[in-house]
Amino acid sequence: MRSELEEIHDRDLIDSAIKAADELGLTNFKASEGWLHAFKKKNGIVSRKINAVVTKAQIANQPELDDTIEEFRVKMKAVMAENRLEKVFNADQTGIKQEMISGRTLAIKGEKKIKAVVKRVNATTHSYTVQVCVSADGKLILPAMVVFCEPKRPACFEQQLLPFKNIKAYSTKSGLMTSQLGITWLQDIFKPNAGENPILMVDSWTGYQKAIEEDEGAVQMHILPPKSTSVAQPLDVYFNRPFKNFIRLLSCKIRRFFPDFDLSSRQGMATIIDITLGQFSADVFNDMIRYAWFASGYFDERPEKFETPVTVCFDSIKIDSKCGCGKRAFITCAHCDHFYCFHHFVKDRHRCYV
Ligand SMILES: [Zn+2]
Ligand SMILES: [Zn+2]
Repeated sequence: MRSELEEIHDRDLIDSAIKAADELGLTNFKASEGWLHAFKKKNGIVSRKINAVVTKAQIANQPELDDTIEEFRVKMKAVMAENRLEKVFNADQTGIKQEMISGRTLAIKGEKKIKAVVKRVNATTHSYTVQVCVSADGKLILPAMVVFCEPKRPACFEQQLLPFKNIKAYSTKSGLMTSQLGITWLQDIFKPNAGENPILMVDSWTGYQKAIEEDEGAVQMHILPPKSTSVAQPLDVYFNRPFKNFIRLLSCKIRRFFPDFDLSSRQGMATIIDITLGQFSADVFNDMIRYAWFASGYFDERPEKFETPVTVCFDSIKIDSKCGCGKRAFITCAHCDHFYCFHHFVKDRHRCYV
């Protein structure tokens, strides 16, 4: 019945059943609540939240798009077979809310309005941008470009953000990357860290096209076909979701236990993103990043089973987990596998890796 992807409700099932019963001459049939419940149960039908909308034209174009994506994968796999995997990269921009909330909370049944306290309400809707870059052999490349939203960039901007070694901070009025920043990223951040003759897979954003023109062929670029990123771009397919989950959990934990810490201030945001990038660069997550390439169709062999950063850094904390100073553990460092309290990890900017 959903072959045309239209919405279906209980009412539609009842109407169809009555029509069918009528056509069969089953005059005693009643489409009761009980019948409906049993019918849905028997056929595995449940109510689902709609999380994508498409037009008829998009459905009609899908086979063509699938072919284009498959062609791109074949081409990319050939490139990957001829080159060392640490030379092959995927980079993508992702927007991070200035203050992340989980959007859900436990509350007493019947409570009418479910409020949650944050530092600045605006900060839960305004975003900054992180340009993440990973290699096909599973490494996260640091530092990452971070573009903060600054209507007027203060004089102290650079000085304030200098201690956060995993990011290179820039700012625009919107918090979005501009084409000029695309060029800056390629020249000043990507190339110095990617080594000789890198191969880069990116989406069809104009900023990358401009960067390629300026670059005169030193970086071999492969542009993903339009509308293919959700299935063919490694960072979209698996990295961004665990990345945001980690940020959300880290933010919630700080908000709960250290309410004086200003999460949505410039340094607060830098702290969150700096920690997250630092932890995701640990070797223990190489298989997770390789999995993203596998799930996007670039490897035939599935990498080893892996633990997510949330599991490694937070779920590992038990009742008796203590920092070296004796205080209760706030996090497990994914690099050195030691417990740290908030003070010694967040405030001291723990950095056991280079
Ligand atoms: Zn401590
Ligand atoms: Zn460590």
